[in-house]
Amino acid sequence: MRKVTEPTAPPTIITMANPPPPSAGRSDHHQAPPAGPGGPDAAALRALPSVEQVMQALPEDLTGPLPRPLVVRVLQDQLDQLRAIALGRRPGTPVRDRDEVVEHLHQAVAAVARERLQPVINATGVPLHTNLGRAPLSHAMEALATVAAGYNNLEFSLETGGRGRRGAYVERLLAVIANAEAATMVNNCAGGLVLALRHLISDERDEVIISRGELVEIGGSFRIPDILAASGATLREVGTTNRTRAADYRAAVSPRTALLLKVHQSNFAIRGFTEEAGLGEIAAIAREHGIPLMHDLGSGAAIDTACVPGLPHEPTPAESLAQGADLVCFSGDKLLGGPQAGVLAGKAGLVQGIKREPFFRALRCNKLVFAAMEATAVATLDSATGDGAGRGTALQQLLATPLATLRERAETVANALAPALAPRFGIASGHLKGRMGGGTLPDASMPSHGLRITPADGSPGPQAVLDRLRLSHPAVVGVVQDDAVVLDLRTVAAQQDLALTAAVRQALAE
Ligand SMILES: *Cc1c(COP(=O)(O)O)cnc(C)c1O
Repeated sequence: MRKVTEPTAPPTIITMANPPPPSAGRSDHHQAPPAGPGGPDAAALRALPSVEQVMQALPEDLTGPLPRPLVVRVLQDQLDQLRAIALGRRPGTPVRDRDEVVEHLHQAVAAVARERLQPVINATGVPLHTNLGRAPLSHAMEALATVAAGYNNLEFSLETGGRGRRGAYVERLLAVIANAEAATMVNNCAGGLVLALRHLISDERDEVIISRGELVEIGGSFRIPDILAASGATLREVGTTNRTRAADYRAAVSPRTALLLKVHQSNFAIRGFTEEAGLGEIAAIAREHGIPLMHDLGSGAAIDTACVPGLPHEPTPAESLAQGADLVCFSGDKLLGGPQAGVLAGKAGLVQGIKREPFFRALRCNKLVFAAMEATAVATLDSATGDGAGRGTALQQLLATPLATLRERAETVANALAPALAPRFGIASGHLKGRMGGGTLPDASMPSHGLRITPADGSPGPQAVLDRLRLSHPAVVGVVQDDAVVLDLRTVAAQQDLALTAAVRQALAE
């Protein structure tokens, strides 16, 4: 529900993918117009401006950043739609006022402008917010800029002058991080899982044994059973939702078994009467039968998350491999804090085999991802060795920000804003609890500090405040909690405090 008076719900925009019905075209006057509700509406037709007239009327700061042909296309589509309504060929209310038409077109262009990829201040306190691009990459800026700006040795060997191996260096780094014989990287973890499954199953051996407690939905229509089906695997479910024992795996092994798969539950936790076979026990069964064991870790914490106040220990790829998994996969942009990618690590033979799969080519990463992942892996390793050189990834830095620093920043922002917002809004700094997000650590809550904006009676409510903040420049994304808007500073970079202050002041100005 939107309650803002400012730009409201974006108007419907006709695009090529959703063309108007054929009868709505302009060049079909030789056809008998279908009987509309009231036939042509002369006043509404007269109210339609030309594209050029609208271009003149739109504010420069709106159209300036948008390519002119795009604006023209949006306006033409909208005008076609309004004309079809005016002609009675399309359901809708004819608009007979020129200013109203221009305002409608203004909003249509503004809605397109908001789709532009742009920086957003994440004040949700959720560091791995999937909708906001998951892990921040400020630690990789230099690598991204240098690699993107010119040529590089992506597939060129500086050693021989001949063709080189794409990703050779980052594969070494990832293998060190996972303490694995070998590692490689594809477009994302879901892709890595499909690729590994396709490599491991065959016509004779197509069954994948997995616990019923791990047939999870990761989010955004990503369901483990669907992934298995898409890979051509036959699902062999064992155990129950809450309890699966090692004996269940053992009983299910047959000559058709291609692999044992363990999937990290990621975004939920089961409490109560539960039992889960340990990775070590499952590994023993896998070894007994000469079947590979794969562990989809999802979040893939390279660092010990327990060193962050409020966070439990999250299984690391190195631990899974040490416990006997032959292959692990995990996301690059979750707890590793890197770009979107899927890392596969484990036995050298398996990793090399996967790299020879024809499908590997379809999932390979581009130079920007390699550059960002290289910087991420280096930052991770530097922080782990504690040589003082590196402060870790942007995610690590954000998690390591002391509570006292966040409190100080929150107090500064609150003090700066309080006089401007009074008496319509109260603002106070206070203690908060954040979640990790990205489908990781569902039970954990991290202590944090931030701002609480409380509307006085008669002022726009919390949802309206949230909407205004989201529509400001830069956009500020917060959350509503107990009739107040909460802005958590854990996920706001210190350099963004001034922009945040300005955005709040502007959004809540009378
Ligand atoms: C997040 C997750 C995935 C998917 O990772 P993407 O990199 O987003 O494709 C797969 N498996 C598990 C267990 C996850 O948590």
